[in-house]
Amino acid sequence: MKVEIDREGCIGCGLCAEICPEVFRIAEDGLSTVIPGAGGSDDKIAEAAESCPVDVIHTD
Ligand code: SF4
Repeated sequence: MKVEIDREGCIGCGLCAEICPEVFRIAEDGLSTVIPGAGGSDDKIAEAAESCPVDVIHTD
């Protein structure tokens, strides 16, 4: 699953990294980033995307 974060809209709540730490982490600037080369379960990635309060995680 391809995953992207529109970081400009991220509020750094940390929810995605909590739900799917294999793929998302909070970077030094306090915003979420996709871990390069990371592989996580599609279910968890989808759950993180659905849980994002500002809807900035995009998957396809
Ligand atoms: S859940 Fe959304 S707003 Fe929260 S850290 Fe992740 S990308 Fe940012």
